[in-house]
This record gives sequence, C-alpha cells and structure tokens, in this order.
Amino acid sequence: MKRVLRKQKPLYMLSLTFCIIGILALLTTLWKTSSQVFSSADPFSTFLSLLWIEEIVIINVVTFKLIYLVAFGDIMLILGVILWLLSRQWLVVPGKTVCYQCPFCKKKWKSTGDKALVHCPYCNQLVHPKIAEK
Ligand SMILES: [Zn+2]
Repeated sequence: MKRVLRKQKPLYMLSLTFCIIGILALLTTLWKTSSQVFSSADPFSTFLSLLWIEEIVIINVVTFKLIYLVAFGDIMLILGVILWLLSRQWLVVPGKTVCYQCPFCKKKWKSTGDKALVHCPYCNQLVHPKIAEK
C-alpha cells in the first residue's frame, strides 16, 4: 500500500482565489480606515466604529459598509482554507497484486507487487520470488 498526496488542481486554484479575494477585501478595509485610525488616540475602537460608518463605493453602483467588506473577506479566507484542506487528499493506492512462486518449494501465492525479497509463506525462506503467470 502506498500513500500518495494528490492535489486537486481546480479546487486548489479556487481556494487560492478565495484567499486572495479575502486578503484584498481586508487590505482594502485597512487602507480605507488607516489614515483615521493612525491619527486617533484609540485606534482599535476608531477602527471598529469606522467599520460601521465608512462606506465603500464600487463603480458608483454598489455601496456597502466596510463591516460587510470585513465579513466578506473573513468568509472568503475561511472558505479558501477549507477548500485548500479539501484539495489535499491522501489516496491509498494498492499495489498491483501479482502471483509469486517460491523457487524452493514451488508453491505459489498472491501478494502486492514491488518487492525484491519476500519470505515464502510456506517454507519461510527469504527468496527472490519468481513472478508466476496468473
Ligand atoms: Zn517456499
């Protein structure tokens, strides 16, 4: 049995996109509030109140409060991380089953492939197994 880490490309790309959108949304919020936050005596509460007051206008059509942008950015980041975790899958790949034959006792048995040396299950000799026809 082999364990193989397989990245699911489309899901991985989607998770990356979500993370980038989330980070951009949060950076936009910081950039919109930074001048007032840094000039304030109480940056944290200023930041929080600005989230509810400041509005962001997108192409003169959509207007929404910064708090929604922060919520949106957080959701995007969380979704991105979840998708990233989902995109990484450990797959158990069973080896190919082959039929071995012991050169000493001539008995045959089935096992998974890729072995150079095996113990014969019948006579317990360490053998280079001969791969027999099925
Ligand atoms: Zn044997």
